[in-house]
Amino acid sequence: MGPIGQLFIVCSPSGAGKTTLCRKLLERFPEMRFSVSHTTRPRRPQEVDGRDYHFVDAATFERMVEAGEFVEWAWVHGNRYGTSHAELRAALAEGRALLLDVDFQGAAQIRQQYPGATAVFILPPSLAVLRERLQRRGTETPETLELRFRNALREIEAYPQFDYLVVNDDLDRAVEVLCGIVWAERARRTRQAEAAEGLLREAAALRRGGNDPDAG
Ligand code: ADP
Ligand code: 5GP
Repeated sequence: MGPIGQLFIVCSPSGAGKTTLCRKLLERFPEMRFSVSHTTRPRRPQEVDGRDYHFVDAATFERMVEAGEFVEWAWVHGNRYGTSHAELRAALAEGRALLLDVDFQGAAQIRQQYPGATAVFILPPSLAVLRERLQRRGTETPETLELRFRNALREIEAYPQFDYLVVNDDLDRAVEVLCGIVWAERARRTRQAEAAEGLLREAAALRRGGNDPDAG
């Protein structure tokens, strides 16, 4: 395998703005790849099969589960969603950063297998705003909206498992915070050690050549 790309997990209660923020993040980091999940949820009108999700029927999903094709999968709001090994392998083999939009159960499962993954939780500024955004998006029936809203509270309780919390109040500000997290994670000593080691090797070579960088 080539160099290991960084995994960024972005998670939020439905309607907090995770999809919007992920799109903006991908515009800012074009080399980052989006992990396209499989789901049994019906496609929304603006969604594109293969870009937003791989939309599959229940039998296909079940067959993939049986065949061990998923790194993780979970029931979310009455449908099944999963991240395939193929999706992860493709990004990691290229050494590219991968952005995963999964629920908190998926986040926990991925981190068990990839402890180095960075997990970010997006919070709405208030529950009233969360409900309003879900309504305004216009994708939910009254029943699915209530289900997603009820589930939001359970999801927010999972916040301690995340590395970063981002409140999505002002969209531009939240995008900046998210970009800052990506830069900060890239600057971690463990990921950048080679930059310092290279300088030390250069200094050792200078010393061997009689040009002691410490002298003078
Ligand atoms: P999620 O993917 O978390 O379910 P979406 O990204 O679909 O949420 O956002 C839900 C709705 O809220 C969408 O209509 C989106 O345009 C809107 N939205 C997202 N972020 C903000 C924000 N910071 N301010 C106002 N509206 C927002
Ligand atoms: P939506 O139906 O609004 O697109 O997504 C509903 C929820 O499913 C979101 O919390 C989203 O993050 C989650 N989800 C999307 N893909 C996956 C996946 O592959 N695995 C898991 N566990 N959750 C996912």
